[in-house]
Amino acid sequence: MEQTEKLAIDGGTPVRSGGWTARWPIFDDTERKLVMEVLESGNWGGIFEPGSMYGKLPQMEVKFAELQGAKHAIGMVNGTVAITVALQAAGIKAGDEVIVPPYTFVATASAVLAFGAIPVFVDVEEDTLLIDPEKIEAAITERTRAIVPVHIAGGPANMTRIMEIARKHDLKVIEDAAQAIGAKWDGEFVGTIGDLGTFSLQSSKNLNSGEGGIITTNNYDYWEQTWSLINVGRIPGGKWYQHERIGQNFRLTEFQAALVLGQMTRLEEQLQRREANVKVLDELLSEIDGITILKRDSRVTRHSNHLYMFKLDSELGARIDKDDFIAKVNAEGIFILTGYNSLNLNPAIQNASKELSGRDHVYSCPVSERVCENEALWLTQVTLLEPEEAMHDIAKALKKVVQSYS
Ligand SMILES: *Cc1c(COP(=O)(O)O)cnc(C)c1O
Repeated sequence: MEQTEKLAIDGGTPVRSGGWTARWPIFDDTERKLVMEVLESGNWGGIFEPGSMYGKLPQMEVKFAELQGAKHAIGMVNGTVAITVALQAAGIKAGDEVIVPPYTFVATASAVLAFGAIPVFVDVEEDTLLIDPEKIEAAITERTRAIVPVHIAGGPANMTRIMEIARKHDLKVIEDAAQAIGAKWDGEFVGTIGDLGTFSLQSSKNLNSGEGGIITTNNYDYWEQTWSLINVGRIPGGKWYQHERIGQNFRLTEFQAALVLGQMTRLEEQLQRREANVKVLDELLSEIDGITILKRDSRVTRHSNHLYMFKLDSELGARIDKDDFIAKVNAEGIFILTGYNSLNLNPAIQNASKELSGRDHVYSCPVSERVCENEALWLTQVTLLEPEEAMHDIAKALKKVVQSYS
């Protein structure tokens, strides 16, 4: 009987020993050639007049905009700065309130605080772990100016409802699409539905240049503001020492742009490989008593599967220790992660918010808090690039460990 199968952590045979083949990043002569071209050119960085196709950066921006269905794309140092700059480009100011989900990377909130705006947390949906649109209106005050939905794991948030609410209350929408390159909501690419969208090229992300970020927008004014904010307040077509606003140097280098150009040639194939594996995982994991797979709304036209998130059932999650569960699965040769801590409980964020506003900023997000503590588990995008048989081992290991608690 499977119930009596000895766990690897107790000296039993691991479900999988070795056999992992996916590497990250994946590169070959395509990237070598592009990076060498930059090296030999001597043009390693700098500023390019809009419309110039002279450097790798403008080339990459044009290709990225095409790929993501946006009118404009601007590269910059990272995805965190991209959120700050996008908010500023949309006119958000210090002291304004910005609605964010608590189930996300810390940068979503810290990018708001970086220029003195204040994150207000709205809980996530039980079955998607994405911001719950139906809880947004209760969090809106006279200081609220923007919503930052996060397409966590590469799964688009409910942009239809979010845009309705934003229009009704005259709020800007900045999509944090750091994990969602290639994803679409109801036929539209993420990063183009709100006012601006932000992406990350950090080394763990699906499109990787070591570090880097991108802002997309369909609005020329937002594009111009963004360009200026990351180019020390210069304006497109202006003189070299003409600085019209306070901006910083947040430019991406030519080496990074070269890497993005190379990695883009692999993106579609990698998205498809992950999609195929996720289909298998959804089927296998939904058959395991004790595990719940997340819901995919039919309007998620494309999911970019940066992470595969799933949950322990509430009953199981409440009576076992999540770290203990993970240690047992990892001992079976399967790498799973616990994921985020609910950001609304983060003391650094609470303190920074209070310092800025003079008020307490304590938000209750029961779904996010419980899921972080007891239920949510992740596989990474690299695991999703493995051959299909690895997905079967993942399911086998999860089943074995779940059954050990019965
Ligand atoms: C990675 C990430 C960021 C930050 O991007 P960096 O390039 O690491 O600064 C922001 N939001 C989310 C959801 C992320 O996953």
